[in-house]
Amino acid sequence: RIAYVNGRYVAHADASVHIEDRGYQFADGVYEVCEVARGFIVDMPRHLGRLNRSLSELSIDWPVTQAVLPLILREVVRRNHVVDGLVYVQVTRGVASRDFVFPAPGTRSALVVTARKADPAAAVKRAETGIKVITVPENRWDRVDIKSTGLLPNVLAKQKAKEAGAQEAWFVDTDGMVTEGGSSNAWIVTRDGALVTRPAEHGILRGITRTTLFDVAAKLGLTIEERKFSVTEAKAAREAFISSATTIAMPIVAIDGAPVANGHPGSVTLSLRQAFFDVAEKSPA
Ligand code: PLP
Repeated sequence: RIAYVNGRYVAHADASVHIEDRGYQFADGVYEVCEVARGFIVDMPRHLGRLNRSLSELSIDWPVTQAVLPLILREVVRRNHVVDGLVYVQVTRGVASRDFVFPAPGTRSALVVTARKADPAAAVKRAETGIKVITVPENRWDRVDIKSTGLLPNVLAKQKAKEAGAQEAWFVDTDGMVTEGGSSNAWIVTRDGALVTRPAEHGILRGITRTTLFDVAAKLGLTIEERKFSVTEAKAAREAFISSATTIAMPIVAIDGAPVANGHPGSVTLSLRQAFFDVAEKSPA
C-alpha cells in the first residue's frame, strides 16, 4: 500500500510521523474519512468542506492549497487500486518542540492521506442482519462538533461495545438523551414513520452522511424531526439506525440487549440505505 506523507508517496512500511508531531503528542489534529464506492469518492466536497471548518476552528493552516487536496486523494486511491473502500485524510498542527501552546507562526501543518480496499458485499450482508448497539454515559468534551483526533472516549466506548457483542456505542447525556455513536450519528424512526435525529449543535458531530440523508429523506418524502430523543424512546421506536461515511444508514436491531421492534432491520432504514448512493455527490476518484 502507498501513503501520501507531507509531499511524498511512500510505501506504508516507509511512512512515518515525527515523534514531535502535535497529532501524536496532543491529538492536535483533524481528519476525514470518505467512502470510495464503485470508483467514486463519495461526498468529497462535503468532507473537505468540513475539514476546512475543522481546521479553521482550531486555527490550523491548510497543509496544501484547497484545490490540490482532491488531486492527492484521487492519486492515493489510484495508486492503491481502490474501487470500493475508503480514503483517509489527517492534518495535524505539525512538528514543534513539545509545548502545550501553539507553535510559532509558519510551522507547517502535516498531511497524511491513505486509502484501503473494503468488500462491498460484506456491507450488504451486514445490512441484511443489522447491527447491535449498547449505550454508555456521554463523557466526552463539549466541542465534539469539531472532528478532532482526540478520540480516546470514543475508543473506550467502542471497545466496551465490542466486549458486549455490539458494533457501536451510543453516548447518552445527563438527561438520558442520546447524543451520537462512537463513530456515527444516531437516528430513530417513530411509529408515524418520521426520522428523528439530534440537532447538530455542539453536542454532536455534524455527520456528512447525516446531512446527505436529509436530502435522501426529502427525495423519499419522509419527514425529519431534528430533535433530541431519549434511550427510552429509542427502545420503543419502530426502527433505529446509525449513519456514517463507512456505514451509510445501518439498521440497529438491539439497544442494550433489548430488541428494537421485532429485532430485524427496519424497512425505512433499508430504503434510505438503498437510495443513498443515487442522491450522494460522487466525485470522480
Ligand atoms: N459522529 C462521530 C463521533 C463520528 O466519528 C462520525 C464519523 O466518523 C460520525 C458521527 C459520522 O460522520 P460522517 O457521516 O461524516 O462519516
